[in-house]
Amino acid sequence: MNVQWLYFHPVRTKMQNDARKVAVLATGGTIAGTAARAGDNIGYTAAQLGVQALVEAVPALREVALITEQVAQLDSKDMEFSIWAALAARVAHHLADDGVAGIVITHGTDTLEETAYLLQRLLAPAKPVVLAAAMRPATALLRDGPQNLLDAVTLAREPGARGVMAVLAGTVHSAWDVRKVHSYRVDAFGSGEAGPVARFEEGWVRRLRGWPAGEAIGLAVLDQPWPWVEIVTSHAAARGEVVRAMVAAGVKGIVLAGTGNGSVHHALEAALIEAQHAGVAVLRSTRCLDGPVQMKRGDELPSAGTLTPVQARIELMLQLMRA
Ligand code: ASP
Repeated sequence: MNVQWLYFHPVRTKMQNDARKVAVLATGGTIAGTAARAGDNIGYTAAQLGVQALVEAVPALREVALITEQVAQLDSKDMEFSIWAALAARVAHHLADDGVAGIVITHGTDTLEETAYLLQRLLAPAKPVVLAAAMRPATALLRDGPQNLLDAVTLAREPGARGVMAVLAGTVHSAWDVRKVHSYRVDAFGSGEAGPVARFEEGWVRRLRGWPAGEAIGLAVLDQPWPWVEIVTSHAAARGEVVRAMVAAGVKGIVLAGTGNGSVHHALEAALIEAQHAGVAVLRSTRCLDGPVQMKRGDELPSAGTLTPVQARIELMLQLMRA
C-alpha cells in the first residue's frame, strides 16, 4: 500500500457529510474570556462570551448542525457541585437523543480534568463527549480557543468515537488520564504515562490507542448529598493537627497526596490512621506526576491506584455517595 495515501484526504468533505447534530454546552473558562488589550494573555476575565459568540468565531462550524446551550458561565477554578450536577444532567439528556452524534463542553482549563473524570465515571458514554478549552482568552492575538473548539466538534462526530475526552493543542486526552501540566503554555495538558488517545492533523483524527471506556455509575448517585472530602499532602515536617482538625469539623473522606509510592510522614500517617479508625474514608495517592501507589504487606491506608489526587477525591466522593 502506498503509505502516502493514508495521509491524503480529499479537501474537506468531512464537515458536509454528517447530518447528525453536535450539542455544544458552554460553561465559561478562558475560551470565553476577554481582556481589555489584545496582547494581554493573563490579565483577562474568564467566562465573558456566550456560546453563540464562541461558535460564530469558527467559520467552519457554519456547516455543522449544532445545538447550543449555556449551562453555566464561570471561571472553572470556582467550579461547584451544583454546576457539575446540572452539566451531567444536560450531557445525559443530549446523549439520549439519537440525532446527536456527540457532545462538546467548553470549559476552563483549571478544573477540566476533574469534570472530565466525573463525567466519565457517571456516564461512561457510548458517544464522544469532548471538553474544549483554551489557554488564551478570545481577545488574544494568538488565541487557541477557535481551533480547539473546531477539533472538539470534529471529534464529537468521529465515527466510532466514544467516552469523555479533552482536546487542546491538537492532542486528544482521555478523561482517565488528562491532567493540566503547565500553568501558561498553550500546550498545557498531558496524559501521563498512558499517552494521548489521538492527535489532530489538518482536521483529521489520527488515533493512537483505544477510546476511553468503563462502566457508568449513573446519575442516580447524585441524589445523595456530596460528601466533604479533602486532599492533604505529605511533605517534610508534616503534622497531624490538620487531619485532626478536619475530623473534628466533620470531614467524611481524606485523600492523601503522599510522597513517592504513597509514603507518608509518620506524624501525618498516625493522624490518618486515627481518622480511618474514627470512620473517615481515606485513600492514598501520590504527589508524583506519574505512577501508581502499590500496596505492600502491612499497609493500613488503601491505595488510590493510578488516580491523581484530584481524581482520587472524586472517586472517594462517588464511593461515599454510593455507600
Ligand atoms: N481560570 C480559567 C478557568 O479555569 C483558566 C482557563 O480556562 O484556562 O476557567
